[in-house]
Amino acid sequence: LAAQSHLNHQTIVKISKKVAFGSEELVIIGGPCTVESLEQMEIVAQMLSTASVQGLRGGVYKPRTSPYAFQGMGEEGLEILARIRSHYLMPVVTEVMSISQIEVVAAHADMLQVGSRNMQNFDLLKALGQAGKPILLKRGLAATIEEFVMAAEYILSHGNADVVLCERGIRSFDDYTRNVLDLGAVAALKQITHLPVIVDPSHAVGKRELVAPVARAAIACGADGLIIECHPEPEKSVSDARQALSLEDMVHLVDSLKPVATAV
Ligand code: PEP
Ligand code: MN
Repeated sequence: LAAQSHLNHQTIVKISKKVAFGSEELVIIGGPCTVESLEQMEIVAQMLSTASVQGLRGGVYKPRTSPYAFQGMGEEGLEILARIRSHYLMPVVTEVMSISQIEVVAAHADMLQVGSRNMQNFDLLKALGQAGKPILLKRGLAATIEEFVMAAEYILSHGNADVVLCERGIRSFDDYTRNVLDLGAVAALKQITHLPVIVDPSHAVGKRELVAPVARAAIACGADGLIIECHPEPEKSVSDARQALSLEDMVHLVDSLKPVATAV
């Protein structure tokens, strides 16, 4: 179902009245790794709503490496996202980690993210086929392109046609960058599937000073959009502080994408 030969066109995944992945316009999603407070999300939304950023991100169920690290605000965070979404009229994307979270997340968000660590959680993928909301599927930490497409296939074959693929870097031997962004995968996925493909440069490189050049390269490779972490006080982020852009840098980055997008 995901193969280009199945539907010989570009699938468009609409997450709100105005925002659609896979259309002519790039879709940029920005926001913190983790929702920390209403005030934090207000500042983010206020700044990004004035830029060419169409949607907001923020995790409330966080897949942290350590069980002792902050695990996210949960339902309280979802309430914050829902308030921001209706106030700023910006769609929100947030991660769902388990089947039991689907219903409540779907009631508060416009798009449900499957994180890298859950890309092959097949029961979760099957259940998301019935979630009634678009899915942002992130590539697994060590998933092949074939495995990535097959994970999307699980969601599609269980009834949900609205899947966006997200390349976010894969593990390799060099930890200078957090992961290795696979731009070849972006080009390949655009050719072999009809699904929109976006890139997460933040988790790919893991260092804020490397995010912008890699983001522009992703657009040059044909990505339909980007999801980028940014924060009002980047160094104070409760998670992924090292890769968070300031809101000002986020706006500059988004502005710098226009000429690249026009050239593609
Ligand atoms: C995230 O988007 O905050 C996240 C945890 O990403 P990934 O699943 O790609 O590591
Ligand atoms: Mn993160």
